[in-house]
Amino acid sequence: MVLKSIELSGFKSFAKKSELFFDSPVTAIVGPNGSGKSNVVESIRFVLGEQSMKSLRGKGGTDLIFKGSKNLGALSRASVTIVFDNKNKIFNFGDTRDTNQKNVSFDEVRITREVYADGSNRYLINGTEVRLKDIIELLSSVHIGASGHHIISQGEADRILSSNARDRRVMIEDALGLKIYQFRIKESERRLEKTEINMKEVTALKRELAPHLAYLKKQVEKIEKTQGLRTELRDLYQVYGGIEQFLITSLKNDIHSKKVDLENKFKEIEQKSNSHSRQKESTKSIDLQNSLDRIVADIAYLDQTKNELERSLGRLEGARETLTKPRKENTEKQDKLLPFSYLKNILVSIKDSILSFSNITDVRDLTPLVSKTLARIDATIHEMEGAKDIPLVVDNTTDIAHIDTQIQTIDEDLKNVLLKKQELINSKIKIEESLKEERELSLVGEREYYEIISQKNNLEAEIREIHRDFADVTQREEAFQVEIREGVALLGLDMPREFIQQDESRIQELASGQSDLRRKIERIKIKIEESGALGGTETLKEYETTKERDEILGRELVDLTSSIADLRNLIVDLKVTLDKEFKDGIEKINTVFEKFFNLMFGGGSAHLSISVEHKRKRKGEDEEDIPDVSFGDEDMDFERGIDIHVSLPQKKVKELSMLSGGERSLTSIALLFAMSQVNPPPFLVLDETDAALDEANSRRYGDMIASLSEVSQLIVVTHNRETMSRAHILYGVTVGSDGGSKLLSIKFDDATTYAK
Ligand code: ATP
Repeated sequence: MVLKSIELSGFKSFAKKSELFFDSPVTAIVGPNGSGKSNVVESIRFVLGEQSMKSLRGKGGTDLIFKGSKNLGALSRASVTIVFDNKNKIFNFGDTRDTNQKNVSFDEVRITREVYADGSNRYLINGTEVRLKDIIELLSSVHIGASGHHIISQGEADRILSSNARDRRVMIEDALGLKIYQFRIKESERRLEKTEINMKEVTALKRELAPHLAYLKKQVEKIEKTQGLRTELRDLYQVYGGIEQFLITSLKNDIHSKKVDLENKFKEIEQKSNSHSRQKESTKSIDLQNSLDRIVADIAYLDQTKNELERSLGRLEGARETLTKPRKENTEKQDKLLPFSYLKNILVSIKDSILSFSNITDVRDLTPLVSKTLARIDATIHEMEGAKDIPLVVDNTTDIAHIDTQIQTIDEDLKNVLLKKQELINSKIKIEESLKEERELSLVGEREYYEIISQKNNLEAEIREIHRDFADVTQREEAFQVEIREGVALLGLDMPREFIQQDESRIQELASGQSDLRRKIERIKIKIEESGALGGTETLKEYETTKERDEILGRELVDLTSSIADLRNLIVDLKVTLDKEFKDGIEKINTVFEKFFNLMFGGGSAHLSISVEHKRKRKGEDEEDIPDVSFGDEDMDFERGIDIHVSLPQKKVKELSMLSGGERSLTSIALLFAMSQVNPPPFLVLDETDAALDEANSRRYGDMIASLSEVSQLIVVTHNRETMSRAHILYGVTVGSDGGSKLLSIKFDDATTYAK
């Protein structure tokens, strides 16, 4: 048995937990009116996911919960659990043809539905909370559909007859187990719709991206065009940078060593200039000059003396002449004296002059003449020591001889004076020569000094030059840094971080080409700037990212397009399958329907036909979250339905509306049973379907129950003894003393007895 049991708790009149076990093919539920038999049937509808409150005879969730009785309080929750046997793993999620199908591994499937006072519902499969959708999917795998065709409520026996063609079609589709296709179609259509929305969004995104991408592409083209220039610039920078770096370093080193060298030299020269005895005049030449000055003065004095002597001589000669001439008046004495002391003084000073000169010049160098002169001067001085100045007395009485002696002496003296003068002149010449020599010597010193000063000046100039050179190289270094920064701005990461190291031996040759390189670099820079493709790396990066995004969107579009095509194909396939299975099912049902109809009416015929109706708007008032599972003709403005055609034996009546209550009942039972036979549900619930049958028909009904129970488990609510007699288990429902429904299990034998 697939259906094992059902447990009610707080559901409608079943206040207390009550459990029914369906261990046999036919279970009958019996009991007095109003005891709660139909509530049991409704509990089955409820737990299988019924959403129509009307079908559950209520207005809202609270109507399903025990409302309380004289002795029992109202409850806040109703719970129903239905238990199925799943040893054969008949339950699964998904279509049997679906590769994604997942079998339920449990041996038992327990479906629970709870309803709360606020109307909220909980669904559980084996204790795990699930969505209603999951329950519907799980049940459809064992042909238990939501339309409830397998649960025929009281008075609803001829529902299939009274329904319109469309509802009938829905019931039949459900009975044929085609709901799963409806779900798949609906699901695919929803997915299709979502995919189409997605596609629109992706298309819009791609379109939005397009102008930016086009702009970037143009930029990139520009960049690629300038790529050659950039490469050239990079290569130039590598060479130029290497040379420049080397030049700057070597210039700096050179300047530094030159500077050190110059500074040392300058220190040296400064010391030299400080220590250089740039004497104005040597003491030796001063002495010489002094001696010379003295000699010159002495010569002048000698000249003066000579003049005096000559004058004295003249006077003496005059006197002699006078003496030799007759005297006139010559009594007057002459008091004039010869200036011996004066002469002596002159001689002493001459000697001193010669000696001082000799001291300077060194005695050994004195010429013999000088020595002789000195000796004579000494002798004369000596002679003069004892001598007194000779009084130049011209006395008439003095004889001429005396005058002659005096003249002789003065002559002598004159000669001596002249001799002395000559000696002095000779000394003067000597001293003059020495002085000349000495002066020449000091001139050399002066020249040396000026040489040092000029060298110092030159060094100072050179140091200034070196400072200028240093400023120049610093400026060059700064300019080079600026050039590097400009290179980075233009080349970004392509700008070389290290330059090509140049061969030192070629550096001079390379240095001369450096300004050419610099000009070349500047020209290329301008070209790149003019190309308008600045910020190359960022643009390329952005272009790559944007292109990638565009490609992703493109791929998404391709995927979405193929998904849409796949979904459309799937929908078409599903619709084709559904259509085919529906038509095949109708055919199969017709065969059994005809047979059962014949059996029920002892003749006649009946069959179903597919009709096409114009579509009309229809919205089920209780269809909460149950999807619209009508046959997939949504795209068309017509829909299919099922018409029932009957032909009663010996009667001309063919209209359903013209059938009697019993005839309707028999027809609907025949059809329901036929539907169940073709695609047997695991169980079938019939709530007083047999109410309108007479005794003969009750027997035929009983026979059909028996044959139907071979393919489906049957739960029948009945007051009909014939039907009861076909059951293996009877459940009696009564109203307990507390006002709630009570269950009473009656064994088969007792049931038979009870039935009789
Ligand atoms: P009949 O043989 O006449 O068809 P039945 O046995 O099928 O009767 P039901 O229709 O199952 O009887 O039971 C109806 C009874 O259940 C009514 O008496 C009704 O008051 C009671 N009932 C329905 N809903 C609730 C509820 N929420 N709380 C308490 N009792 C309820």
